[in-house]
Amino acid sequence: MPGGTRLGLFGGTFDPVHRGHLEVAQAVRRALALERVLLVVANEPWQKVARGPVTPAEDRFAMVEVATAGWPGLVPCRREIDRGGPSYTVDTVEEVLAEEHGCEVTLVVGADVVPELSTWHDEPRLRELVTLAVVDRPGSPLAPAPSGWRAVVVPVAPPDVSSTEVRARLEAGEPVGDLVPEPVMRCIRARGLYATER
Ligand code: ATP
Repeated sequence: MPGGTRLGLFGGTFDPVHRGHLEVAQAVRRALALERVLLVVANEPWQKVARGPVTPAEDRFAMVEVATAGWPGLVPCRREIDRGGPSYTVDTVEEVLAEEHGCEVTLVVGADVVPELSTWHDEPRLRELVTLAVVDRPGSPLAPAPSGWRAVVVPVAPPDVSSTEVRARLEAGEPVGDLVPEPVMRCIRARGLYATER
């Protein structure tokens, strides 16, 4: 149905959520006039868990909740946690489309994710269901819109930060400056995450 709600889905591990995530989500929301962008916290990021331990999903979700509180239109989404098991984006999109009748889903991804899309679960189906919004990621080659997808490239200049770098700094007791919003830092301390002091 044309004229339905325009929703953004921005999936991630958010281990932890950082300013890059928030700026990307907000910039894409504004650029594409999306009503909301859902920050979808992966329950079990099946490609990442193979590489090493991931912080429990409830902790990662709590951080996204406090992080988005001051950002209108950015909404934490715990759908993949509630579903349990490995998190496949295609299942999440199917659920959202079934619940929000007539909505259009834009899937937001950083340029570093584009080369991995072909490895995603049921990629042909996902391609049929969404439009991709690709944003530049500092350190990754500029991403052309991948072929076979409905896609737009959204010009955003996000900060050069990754969760990996944030974790490394926190574990080393180094400052993270404003790369992690203060409410998220409080959540990290309160939950004793990343070997920080309580
Ligand atoms: P990690 O370092 O643990 O791999 P990450 O910082 O890449 O984590 P994710 O939660 O894995 O964060 O990423 C979720 C999404 O956010 C991905 O689409 C990724 O490309 C995008 N993203 C993360 N950081 C940035 C950034 N600084 N600029 C642009 N996109 C980003």
